[in-house]
Amino acid sequence: MPSIQLQGKIFLRGTIHARTGLHIGGNSGELDIGGIDNPVIRNAFNRQPYIPGSSMRGKMRGLLDRHFNNALEKSVGRDVRVHECQDPTDYKTCPVCQVFGVAPQGDMRGKTMPTRLIVRDTFLTPESLEILDRTDTDTDFTEIKTEVAIDRITSAATPRQQERVPAGATFGPFQIVHSLYTHHENDTATQLQNELEFFQTVLTGMELLEDDYLGGSGSRGSGQIAFENLTITFKSRQCYENAEAPPLTIAENIEVNALRQSDYASVILKDMSSE
Ligand SMILES: [Zn+2]
Repeated sequence: MPSIQLQGKIFLRGTIHARTGLHIGGNSGELDIGGIDNPVIRNAFNRQPYIPGSSMRGKMRGLLDRHFNNALEKSVGRDVRVHECQDPTDYKTCPVCQVFGVAPQGDMRGKTMPTRLIVRDTFLTPESLEILDRTDTDTDFTEIKTEVAIDRITSAATPRQQERVPAGATFGPFQIVHSLYTHHENDTATQLQNELEFFQTVLTGMELLEDDYLGGSGSRGSGQIAFENLTITFKSRQCYENAEAPPLTIAENIEVNALRQSDYASVILKDMSSE
């Protein structure tokens, strides 16, 4: 029987700073008459805009697919093509599918394919909520950006509106959880090295995202974000076996690129081998 063992979890926390206005689309169907066409997604409970983990995760995956030149062989819905390994041999050498997961279909059915990455939803910080609450706008915590489409022949202008969380807003704490696994039949040391390289792929995805955009209208200025004040901690197997074993704090107040260059991987490997 195949088996898989959890060796530990890496936690990355920090804040997400909106350097430009952020538009992550919501559902206009729930709006009142007179509402805007292009609203942002909001928490139904308190009407506050937030960043869904799925948006961040999906964008990072797409950017990494392009980075690794992955084949976009799977169709989702009518018009969306994505990469997802269909073959166990391809999967073994594909960091994107190992990190983000694949559906157990076709030849992949019955294989051991854990999803390693969890990205939680992220909400506005109390400070940003307070500032945005004081701002005098018609909408809660957001701005309405009007863009004008110009007919190239008649020069007639058609305005279109989009709701955005204004530039300067801060979301946090965000949390990414990345699990490290081993399969019992293989060499554990090499596997753990590989597992940590998968996390390095996550960090690459975060840096790609900072240099790209989150949400809509990125080519027109929206969605530039920065991950700030990152803290990375590690909980080994021992932390789950023994409630008193504390997590290991590896770095605090660090940026994505500096973390990519740091020696966090050897610190984690050392922590796991000291048990
Ligand atoms: Zn793949």
